Amino acid sequence: MLKYERKEIADLGIDESVKRLTPEKITKTINNVLKGTGARLKAYLDTCIHCGLCAEACHYYLSHGKNPTYSPVAKVKLTLWEMVKNKGNVSPDFIAQCSRIAYTECNRCRRCSLYCPYGIDIWYLIALVRRICLLLKVVPQYEMDTNYSHAATLNMMWLKQDDWIDTVQWQEEEVRMEYKTARIPFDKEGAEVMYTPIAPEPKFKPQLLAATAKIMHAAGVDWTMPSFDGWDNSDISMHVADFETMSRVERKHFEAAFKLKVKRIVMCE
Ligand code: SF4
Ligand code: SF4
Repeated sequence: MLKYERKEIADLGIDESVKRLTPEKITKTINNVLKGTGARLKAYLDTCIHCGLCAEACHYYLSHGKNPTYSPVAKVKLTLWEMVKNKGNVSPDFIAQCSRIAYTECNRCRRCSLYCPYGIDIWYLIALVRRICLLLKVVPQYEMDTNYSHAATLNMMWLKQDDWIDTVQWQEEEVRMEYKTARIPFDKEGAEVMYTPIAPEPKFKPQLLAATAKIMHAAGVDWTMPSFDGWDNSDISMHVADFETMSRVERKHFEAAFKLKVKRIVMCE
């Protein structure tokens, strides 16, 4: 019998949110999500022979002294399988456990599915757990905060539009101290490349924008960045499984490229 034992790490996004859950809400949410999975979920759960071959693929398992509860198959067993087995009737504490596993013990790298002889996609199964936790609003606080930032500002760092513009212009001045003709061109219609950073760059490491400008200048690239929404290519909403916000963020990114009539998008990271 697998037992989930971890050193307690407080997280308001999980610990406080589970207090608001009711048994009805949990069951309804789980069953609504599972209803939409069709044959795929059933095929994966029925096919797995618990051989554990996927374990060696997972860096969480390897970096925790090969503790079996960090293996990919255990992560599914300690979350989704219990939900299915109990037809969605699980406790708030169990949902807290699911949130911890799905958000902090799997980064959905998908390596394990390459090790599985049946090609079972653990990533897909963990994503279902995240979706259930998201709908129940039991998500680590920092991740939910960045998701809300995407929903409200379309960037992940609560940056206002004038912050973004000011930061880019400031970095352009810095670059031009070194390269007189270098530019960070905003909104250049028809440019070859629309370059987009992730929001932590202007927020915490603006010098990376200057470094990009130097590279573009040295390489002679015809480039631009949008001064308007769509400039941030990150999407934490995808990671937390808030697919509605994820779609808005991605759409805005592509709309910016269409609006500027660029030939391609180049993204950092
Ligand atoms: S390798 Fe595949 S079949 Fe074996 S335990 Fe992992 S998921 Fe299940
Ligand atoms: S997808 Fe998750 S469980 Fe699978 S190897 Fe990557 S981190 Fe481990």
